[in-house]
Amino acid sequence: MQKYVVANWKMNGSRNLFDQYLNNFNEADNIIVCPPFIYLNTSAKIHLGAQNIFHEPKGAFTGELSTQMLNDVGVKYCLVGHSERRQHFAETNNMVRLKAQACLDASITPIICIGETLAEHEANLTNSVLQKQLDECLPSNGAFWLAYEPIWAIGTGKTPTIDEIHSVHLMVREKLPQTKLLYGGSVDPTNAKSIFAVTNVDGVLVGGASLDIQKIKVIYDAARANA
Ligand code: PEP
Repeated sequence: MQKYVVANWKMNGSRNLFDQYLNNFNEADNIIVCPPFIYLNTSAKIHLGAQNIFHEPKGAFTGELSTQMLNDVGVKYCLVGHSERRQHFAETNNMVRLKAQACLDASITPIICIGETLAEHEANLTNSVLQKQLDECLPSNGAFWLAYEPIWAIGTGKTPTIDEIHSVHLMVREKLPQTKLLYGGSVDPTNAKSIFAVTNVDGVLVGGASLDIQKIKVIYDAARANA
């Protein structure tokens, strides 16, 4: 089974970068691009994801978008609970669960992000922190995906060891046998191959390196080589 690459541009990128993705990938590729909302293009022949959504179906929520609107423009995936949403926009585990459920109700696959801080990592609290997030963020059922993103590895150039990634993914796999499990946090062309090789890693979530078409192509080639 070929592994997945999810490209999270955050508040970066441009129309030109989106065109580069369209020129290099298509719907047959297991790559999902999550640009800022404004670049989501109804006619794009590539898998599209949103970076966030609001859980209510409609109403007086200025600046927000609904899952129905994602459906309207052909978006099939949505990141939910990215640590930057939790940190800068005060998203709680409960909000993450509501958003994930709203996605499932609209036939959009939520990619639910969990991860521990550096202090929690250093205090050997990773498993208990993740367990709590799993207990509080996950809808009771449904075909959601899960991304393990240690907060201290996001955008820092630091990654957990391969053994640490393996151990977390095994722990989550035992709880969620059918769920696609992604790893995210400083994935780049130099480490992608070894991360794809980890058992129970079904794909990667890539931030910084997804802004460079050459880097994301190398990462995608590593995914394909691991099929
Ligand atoms: C992310 O933002 O989800 C992420 C993994 O970022 P980076 O690859 O830059 O660490």
